[in-house]
Amino acid sequence: MTVHNFNAGPAVLPAEVITRIQAELPNYQDTGISILESSHRSKAFETINERAMTRLRRILGLGAEYHIGFLQGGASHQFAMVPLNYLAPDQIGSYVLTGVWAEKALAEARCVGNTHVVATGQADNYATLPDPSSWQIPAHSAYLHLTSNNTIYGTQWPTLPAAHPFTIVDMSSDIASRPMNLHNVAMIYAGAQKNLGPAGVTVVAIRDDLYQRAAPAHVPAILRYPTHINAASLYNTPPAFGIYVLDLVLEWIEAQGLEQIAAINAAKAAAIYSTIDQSGGFYRGHSAHEHRSTMNVTFKIADASLEKAFITAAEAVGMIGLAGHRSVGGLRASLYNALPLSSAEALAQFMREFQRTHG
Ligand code: PMP
Repeated sequence: MTVHNFNAGPAVLPAEVITRIQAELPNYQDTGISILESSHRSKAFETINERAMTRLRRILGLGAEYHIGFLQGGASHQFAMVPLNYLAPDQIGSYVLTGVWAEKALAEARCVGNTHVVATGQADNYATLPDPSSWQIPAHSAYLHLTSNNTIYGTQWPTLPAAHPFTIVDMSSDIASRPMNLHNVAMIYAGAQKNLGPAGVTVVAIRDDLYQRAAPAHVPAILRYPTHINAASLYNTPPAFGIYVLDLVLEWIEAQGLEQIAAINAAKAAAIYSTIDQSGGFYRGHSAHEHRSTMNVTFKIADASLEKAFITAAEAVGMIGLAGHRSVGGLRASLYNALPLSSAEALAQFMREFQRTHG
């Protein structure tokens, strides 16, 4: 049975990448050992690491002014590292709350220093994104923190409101899913386990003017960006296997180009949203139309008692990962880059059939 993997992350990876890993695993490029067994200081790994950085730079259109690093600890680790490195005692960390992950980022910053909530979508359960034209960002803000795509609620900024010279964006759930102008963004970070690879690697890119700000002296070395980025030699063992897979996924993305990836992502999202919109209220989307995410489609069945049956019936035909996040319930279809268009079409077809038999 074909499995259609709608998991929110870790998530589906390109089939070609899985096949390649399998083929290369026992003997990586005639080294006689697998990449899992290679030293992180070997030529083989060094080549992979540098190539992945170059590929990411090209795909995201990041010039030489951005410093790139592959860190551990997930995006959640960045929630803490950002304020530890960049929120000085006389400054304010400004946050736009568009979901649970932004709330978590703010909570970590509050442990470190002064913070300010510029805008929040909490009042309507994060179904809409706050209007940037009314934002007042305090003077002395060290940075403005945004989330580009809200994985749990299914909203996504159509274009990033980089409203501060030092805008920092959590791009965990839509990085490299569409062409984006990042020139006015000072830093991005993303856990790889949705669009870029396996869990365990976090991609970080920091513009030089932010990177040059030194963390306060009390911050331990392991929590400082320069320890992991641009160090003369690796400080500690990086997530080597994850970086190897990341490099393969980046190669797969580059072969298609972001325009093509974005077009397929839009077609996948349209297949599901149009099914919701044409269901006469049987299915109800959570997010406002103008802020709908192409990555995570969140919806409910008007008769909530049918949701369990929906998930069970979907699993029976190989459609997995459709339960909504535990904090909001309902249903969610994650449509990351590697999910084939045919999987989204199969889900749309299943939804119509489920409505026909249960409506
Ligand atoms: N930010 C966003 C937007 C996310 O979707 C997630 C995870 N789903 C996180 C942060 C947390 O990532 P991690 O589990 O890698 O810490």
